[in-house]
Amino acid sequence: MNNRMIYEKAPAKINLALDVLHKREDGYHEVNMIMTTIDLADRIELKSLEQNEIKIVSDNRFVPDDERNLAYKAAFIIKEKLGIQKGVQITIDKQIPVAAGLAGGSSDAAAVLRGLNKIWKLQLTHEQLAEIGSEIGSDVPFCVYSSTACVTGRGEKIHELPAPPPCWIVLAKPSIGVSTRVVYEQLTLEYLNHPDIEGMKQAIQKQDYSGMTAKLGNVLETVTFRLHPEVKTMKERMLKAGADNVLMSGSGPTVFGLTRKDQKAERIYNSLKGFCNEVYVVRMLGQRLPVD
Ligand code: ATP
Repeated sequence: MNNRMIYEKAPAKINLALDVLHKREDGYHEVNMIMTTIDLADRIELKSLEQNEIKIVSDNRFVPDDERNLAYKAAFIIKEKLGIQKGVQITIDKQIPVAAGLAGGSSDAAAVLRGLNKIWKLQLTHEQLAEIGSEIGSDVPFCVYSSTACVTGRGEKIHELPAPPPCWIVLAKPSIGVSTRVVYEQLTLEYLNHPDIEGMKQAIQKQDYSGMTAKLGNVLETVTFRLHPEVKTMKERMLKAGADNVLMSGSGPTVFGLTRKDQKAERIYNSLKGFCNEVYVVRMLGQRLPVD
């Protein structure tokens, strides 16, 4: 390995199930989620620098190139915690749509943590990197593993699961912005239709594709559908186009549909393309990424 430069893959996540249990005294929501990764990824290049600085390079105009970037925050915090005087240039080749509910920024941050652990030979474990990641954002601990997991607490407790049964995922992102903060603020905890998290876990453990599709559920859907009815319309279109089931990821606006057949995935893609600029067909991943 070149000891000055490394590439890390930063895959998008989807929530196969997302439940919110209650609001905590610290203001965060207690969540219970099943998360996995898909084969749609940013490519992060890390170049170690002798001078003590953090540089962000990206040609995507939605990606901040300063300390607001989660990848910058990741480099800053790991340098500070370990007293590292070297610097790093982080080049982000953005493939994951921004502000889509796919945790693109969190995955970039996690990729920086894994990559700097390798290039600077820090010998930190997944657990240690995830703990550092929890100071950057709620989705970062999961993204450090980038596997398949039941995620609880405010996102920092990771209980890994096997990868889900293989299938195709069709993603469609309506061209609107959804504020995660507003969605959580508008959530009425008394009247939630809670997804069957245990059932989802069992389906994954048994590699039961039909069980997995049947158990898809996200309590945030109702709120986002109310604020942005076009997200609900997109879900309905995808179901009509033949997906086995469809769910919104995170707080949206991206919805994803599952199918086992590549021809079916292509058909769904073609029928949505006329209504939506951002449609993707990718495979399920869900295997843990190494940190050393
Ligand atoms: P969340 O649900 O946590 O808001 P998301 O996946 O919907 O996450 P991101 O793609 O992570 O959304 O981007 C949300 C915002 O974060 C963007 O509007 C952008 O300004 C900021 N951001 C910070 N770092 C990054 C990054 N590396 N890539 C993309 N956006 C970033």
